[in-house]
Amino acid sequence: MDLKSLIRDIPDFPKPGILFRDITTLLRNPDGLRHTIDTLTQQCKDTFGKIDYVVGMESRGFIFGTPLAYQLGAGFIPVRKPGKLPAAVCCVEYELEYGVDRLEMHQDALGLGSRVLIVDDLIATGGTAAATAQLVQQTGSELVGFAFIIELKGLGGKEKLPELPIVTLIEY
Ligand code: IMP
Repeated sequence: MDLKSLIRDIPDFPKPGILFRDITTLLRNPDGLRHTIDTLTQQCKDTFGKIDYVVGMESRGFIFGTPLAYQLGAGFIPVRKPGKLPAAVCCVEYELEYGVDRLEMHQDALGLGSRVLIVDDLIATGGTAAATAQLVQQTGSELVGFAFIIELKGLGGKEKLPELPIVTLIEY
């Protein structure tokens, strides 16, 4: 199935000069959605073996991370923007083009030594995934790798991540 044909390109969003890859057109297509989750699941099983927790970043990481966790027999852990999680959190700050951003995760979300997979819809510069990796590694759990639906190549994203296996379904 040609998943790329289900992704819509939106020029100049959210800012002039950015070509935004819109996955909502993939999500609304029943066969496309099923094929995406099934393929992601199979590739993650083959690449990572047993996973205890899937960690997904707000907000499109939730859309793919939760069904993936369900299929892998793993738990799902949300990583959120500041001030959204109710219990005690650990946090990481990371550089944006202008300024810094922060991500948070519940302190007690990941057990010591558990096998953890980080999932997001898309990797561009790798800043979001690299920050999430730091957050996971702070907890003493074992980060085993990353999975993305889309990789925007040529932005150095993968080079910013720890040297671990990475699953991607679509490349631009
Ligand atoms: P990075 O931190 O530069 O790798 O950017 C990745 C994050 O930005 C992910 O959480 C994506 O959801 C979001 N993102 C960046 N560009 C796009 C895009 O073209 N389509 C959808 N999401 C994007």
